[in-house]
Amino acid sequence: MYRIRFHGRGGQGMKTASRILGTAFFRAGFEVQDAPRYGAERRGAPVFAYVRADRAPIFERGVILRPDLVLVADDTIVPVPGAGVLAGLDGHSILVIASDTPEDVWRSRLKIPARIVVIPLPEGEDAAERRHVGVRLAAAAARLTGVLGLGDVKGAVEEELKRLGPEATAENLNNAEVAWQWAVPHEGLVSERPAMSVADYERPQWVDLHAEDTARSAPIIRGEATSVEVRTGLWRVYRPVISHDHCVKCGLCMAYCPDGAITPNAQGFPEVDLEHCKGCMICVAQCPVHAIAAVSEADAREKETQPSLAGQGEKA
Ligand code: SF4
Ligand code: SF4
Repeated sequence: MYRIRFHGRGGQGMKTASRILGTAFFRAGFEVQDAPRYGAERRGAPVFAYVRADRAPIFERGVILRPDLVLVADDTIVPVPGAGVLAGLDGHSILVIASDTPEDVWRSRLKIPARIVVIPLPEGEDAAERRHVGVRLAAAAARLTGVLGLGDVKGAVEEELKRLGPEATAENLNNAEVAWQWAVPHEGLVSERPAMSVADYERPQWVDLHAEDTARSAPIIRGEATSVEVRTGLWRVYRPVISHDHCVKCGLCMAYCPDGAITPNAQGFPEVDLEHCKGCMICVAQCPVHAIAAVSEADAREKETQPSLAGQGEKA
């Protein structure tokens, strides 16, 4: 049985990628499961989807614990523990990352037993949007297994995306072919792991929820102020950057932020709590003097390495 996981952010097409790969396996005569897990169900939040494919009926259920292949659409989530990208990877697994960073850098960063392969991003592609990364990863995954043909993949793309119209379907078919060719040197790299036995079963890591006495029976997670533990800043694709030169301290951004992630500093200027700002850009839309810019996370992180631009509230 092939066990394959796709990881990305909400909006990058991981569910569709798993559908395309699942349909390609199905067209080639395999039994298939494909399913997404959304978590927070919001654009930008880490999501994953998985595919099981076998020549025999599949009785295994639930998320894939020991993947043969993991494909990552957004390299910024690789080190995020909550995204679970590295979960279950071992010496048998292959990790494919869509990234501009070379493989040897990833190998030295991650130090995992799984083999790492980087699929390059198309030149000039918006790193936050990555419009066709899902279809590219699905096509690459198909070739990496070595048991599917390009016809299976193209048929699956047409079946799953025809609702988008002929132009979008053609664009996706083109991307599938590009990824198919990229994967030529890696054909057959992914192999099926032998079936798990009962001895391999790992108990889930249960989370203890502290409860009040049975008369009230309210789990503590419903208690006030627990949301501070949820670092929604990890979801962000764009971050708000406030120009103090233009801000007139009206306070609207603080009032409208749904997460209370903006508070005034000692001088009365708004400051963003980047641990909890989820990047909804409501503050950008509300600022009457356009003092808040939406800056891509990748660009913002790059600027943070330049001392003169570090931090928020930078001078415009
Ligand atoms: S983008 Fe602005 S409004 Fe949205 S969570 Fe971040 S600070 Fe709040
Ligand atoms: S809404 Fe704009 S002008 Fe008003 S406090 Fe926020 S950044 Fe400053």
